[in-house]
Amino acid sequence: MPELPEVESARSVIERAALGRLIVDVDDTDSYVCRPHPPGEIRAALVGRRLAAAHRRGKSLWCDTSDVGAVLGIHLGMSGKIVIADADGGEIDGGDYWEGRRVAGDYRWSRFALTFDDGGRMMLVDPRRLGRITLDPPVDRLGPDAAIITPAAFRAALTGGTAPVKARLLDQRALAGIGNLLADEILWRARVHPAQPVDELTAREVGKLLRATREAVAAALSDGGVHTLTVIPFRHAGALCPRDRAPMAKGTVGGRTTWWCSAEQVLG
Ligand SMILES: [Zn+2]
Repeated sequence: MPELPEVESARSVIERAALGRLIVDVDDTDSYVCRPHPPGEIRAALVGRRLAAAHRRGKSLWCDTSDVGAVLGIHLGMSGKIVIADADGGEIDGGDYWEGRRVAGDYRWSRFALTFDDGGRMMLVDPRRLGRITLDPPVDRLGPDAAIITPAAFRAALTGGTAPVKARLLDQRALAGIGNLLADEILWRARVHPAQPVDELTAREVGKLLRATREAVAAALSDGGVHTLTVIPFRHAGALCPRDRAPMAKGTVGGRTTWWCSAEQVLG
């Protein structure tokens, strides 16, 4: 599932390969992915314009369009990926985080597409069809982006209430961009139990969580996504912690399946 690093990869693909190209057609006929817009509404807003800039905050991605046109909001959902295909068959996509890797040229699951005047296309390819395309999406309800959050903002995000720390890390209004896998990696790196209530975290633990967040996001960005992170391959029954060989423990925290080291991450 795309988290901050995967969405950043999609944003950077758009920035490198789609900005400034004249949009001559739009396939917005998937009325589920494009809800609440009726077919033709997004098309009418985009044809004749160009994507002018690509922005990201947390897991939300949006593009400005030329001449102060509508803003194109793109949510990758559970399995979405941005693919830009050129008329000559060349292709650039947002990284390989799919199980059973898609073969280049396979656009069976294209749910939304822009066609440019040179015949190239930008597609949302999404097997599970849980992505979302909207005009003028609200982004101000999101918290600060986890990749660039300041220490003061991070402390503020982890302050208030008694939520388990993992639930707070997943709360996109507190801190934007962290999903289930990134949260488990951050807590493991910081040696903090996922169910520790935020009001019981020490200043030292908050500092370790901030460092772990920065390191995990940077590592996932440089290595191709959250599936490359250190503890992710050890989130299964019978696995041992890659740091101290203690058994990995499993539970549900913040409504999500959670794995942690039974020896290093203890409630305190
Ligand atoms: Zn351990």
